[in-house]
Amino acid sequence: KSDLILSVNLVLVAPYQRYIVKEILGHGTFGQVAKCWSPEANSYVAVKIIKNQPAYYRQALVEISILRTLNQTYDPDDQHHIVRILDCFVHQRHLCISFEMLGSNLYELLKMNHHKGLALHVIREFSHQILHALVIMKDAGIIHCDLKPENILLCGSKEKPTAIKVIDFGSACKEGRTIYSYIQSRYYRSPEVLLGYPYNTAIDIWSVGCIVAELFLGLPLFPGASEFDLLKRMIDILGEQPPDDVLRESKSTSKYFKYVGSIHSLDFDESRKGCHSAYRLLSDEEYESREMKKPVIGKKYFGNLVTLEEIIRGYPYRRNISEKEMAEESVSRSALIDFIKGLIEFDPVKRW
Ligand code: ATP
Ligand code: MG
Ligand code: MG
Repeated sequence: KSDLILSVNLVLVAPYQRYIVKEILGHGTFGQVAKCWSPEANSYVAVKIIKNQPAYYRQALVEISILRTLNQTYDPDDQHHIVRILDCFVHQRHLCISFEMLGSNLYELLKMNHHKGLALHVIREFSHQILHALVIMKDAGIIHCDLKPENILLCGSKEKPTAIKVIDFGSACKEGRTIYSYIQSRYYRSPEVLLGYPYNTAIDIWSVGCIVAELFLGLPLFPGASEFDLLKRMIDILGEQPPDDVLRESKSTSKYFKYVGSIHSLDFDESRKGCHSAYRLLSDEEYESREMKKPVIGKKYFGNLVTLEEIIRGYPYRRNISEKEMAEESVSRSALIDFIKGLIEFDPVKRW
């Protein structure tokens, strides 16, 4: 069960190729990713070395099968901005997957930019390319389940990126085989997953909405410190709560909401005039007594800006853009707001 100790110049041996480790690119729960040189192919590749444990091994087999289908059947000409899988092999009981070598991820790019956000024309291009990937994923009935800036990589150099690609299908699943309920990284988690409502490829669209807003703001739109905090941020920013249809059918509704009577009885209840939902969000105190835990509340990043409109229009921390870009922005911010709103719609059926 030991982990492979990766070091520079270690050679990973595959049936028809050797991979010489040059640099460690990242590590996580799954294992490690190394930048390797392949003398036979005369090129660099990224090799993901999976931990020697059955659960990770099985999930990695799913990742391989999903990526092969997407690459070969749905995107043979490499035009849909999804990473190419090259090879897989077992080295000393570790499943290894090699991918084309890509550059920095979008989180690193935002950080390099001191979290001031990217220029609108760049955001537009990146959004377009992410949607190109999602189009074939929808055709293939594949849900990524972990879209976030760390899983979108630049192609080309950091100084002169030419495009982006979606990576990390390590949490992906097929529609209709949605067996896991604890998926998506919290900031990018959709209301369906949060509430325990049946989900489909629309959960990825929610994540894209969060990513696009973050590319503009430089900071996550919903930095939920807990799931309750996440839900409260969604409700504040969207200015509404999830529709009753969704709340009625969700497994975890009672964790966050109090049922306050059927919609039809509302007319007779003076105290609830003007309220159109049969569910009311719990107060912090009610949540604490019901869930037996303190509601963890995160920092507010946007000051007194509350709704999506206010945040996108009024967010002042975009200092590194030129005057020309600033002028373009003032006309384009409404379009950006409309776009993000279509993606972070509570109702998965109405969501673009
Ligand atoms: P997570 O922990 O987010 O689920 P993961 O552990 O499943 O991620 P990946 O996201 O596939 O693993 O890879 C981890 C990191 O390694 C990436 O965020 C990226 O920085 C780097 N990386 C992965 N694939 C490549 C690649 N093809 N080219 C360059 N770097 C890569
Ligand atoms: Mg990842
Ligand atoms: Mg992963």
